[in-house]
Amino acid sequence: MKTPSLSTRPPGFTYKGSSLFVEKISADTLTERFGTPLYVYSTAALRERYAIFDRAFKRVPHSVCYSVKANSNLSILRMLAKMGSGFDVVSGGELERVLTVDRKAAKKVVFSGVGKQAPEMDAAIHAGILLFNIESESELELLAERSAKLRKKTRIAFRVNPDVPAETHPYISTGLREHKFGVPITDAPLLYAQAASHKWLEPVGVSVHIGSQITDVAPFGATMERVANLVRNLRAQGHDIRLVDAGGGLGITYRDGASDLKTFEHSVRKYSGALLPPLKNLGVQLLLEPGRSIVGPAGALLTRVLYCKQNGRKTFLIVDAAMNDLIRPSLYGAHHEIVPAKIEKGASMTVDIVGPVCETGDFFARDRELPALSEGGTLAILDAGAYGMALASNYNTRPKAAEVLVDGSKAKLIRRRETYKDLLAAER
Ligand SMILES: *Cc1c(COP(=O)(O)O)cnc(C)c1O
Repeated sequence: MKTPSLSTRPPGFTYKGSSLFVEKISADTLTERFGTPLYVYSTAALRERYAIFDRAFKRVPHSVCYSVKANSNLSILRMLAKMGSGFDVVSGGELERVLTVDRKAAKKVVFSGVGKQAPEMDAAIHAGILLFNIESESELELLAERSAKLRKKTRIAFRVNPDVPAETHPYISTGLREHKFGVPITDAPLLYAQAASHKWLEPVGVSVHIGSQITDVAPFGATMERVANLVRNLRAQGHDIRLVDAGGGLGITYRDGASDLKTFEHSVRKYSGALLPPLKNLGVQLLLEPGRSIVGPAGALLTRVLYCKQNGRKTFLIVDAAMNDLIRPSLYGAHHEIVPAKIEKGASMTVDIVGPVCETGDFFARDRELPALSEGGTLAILDAGAYGMALASNYNTRPKAAEVLVDGSKAKLIRRRETYKDLLAAER
């Protein structure tokens, strides 16, 4: 049978004959064994993507601090920690995950976020993390108080808002003056002076993060120009600035037909090519916080077609995954390539792929052309490794999906499917 040109994500997700494989296991084998909806991740894809990212910065002292919020499964964090990754956390809960995986990883943790609370600060100070990214004057004062109380020196950077527009969805653009993130870059000199006046705080870095799913690298370069100027100013004021945290945000090609590692390597090279020139001769250590670009294409959501139904001129495929499992289409109008686990004979069809949740916004694709597919067949929603499970909820009292990590011909359950008992456990 001739394979139609369907999207694939080698080395994780490719066709062998008419069957979709996750590395060396067919998607159908996985769903038979673990059920649906099922998140599946490819070890090879994760490893390769991390390595490609890391390699693109090998010319400069740097640390990759994987952004935990993109996918926070312990097994994935453990794998990245073993490869030498540090972590960017945005809550006490995420810090707890990292410490659970590897206590020693604390020294490679950066803590970001606009609403850190005292107990979260205490846990991070106690663990001895690498860097706090401070986002307001009030937060600075609270952190100074907590560090004094614990009598521990705390390394800090301010997350500055460079006022650089980035082409992305407005919900995930963060680098403009009117956004809640960071401090205005023009206020930075005063804030660093204020920080330096606190005995237990050490201002050692400058941080930025301008948004997510940014595919044009020019805004990253423009941001680094501004950061480099600030570093020079701060040094002239006597601050020992040794770290520049460039944040995350490198986008992936959700629409590509066959998005392979070469494509990724090319895009990361362009990214490092934009970040590095402005930092030349500064002699700083560069911190990078990629999330999506590492895990996004390494994961897919497998879902079974429950019903095919015709309403007037429209055909709906009702699948067993829903917006509570993967909210990106509903929340951002995001596009995901969707491919069948098994290519069947027959005419292609144009369908809306929707979930069982009681909201019209519960859809994965609208007016999408798919190869022939029968009820009971399985679909793979590609590029679901980032902001998929991490954003899952129990809406409609739906248990969260199971997660499986595939390594060659081995599949490991890394999060069991939730039960109704789990769902009700915290309530009375
Ligand atoms: C979300 C976030 C990231 C990761 O962004 P990606 O687009 O997934 O690479 C990095 N740093 C901070 C501060 C973030 O909030």
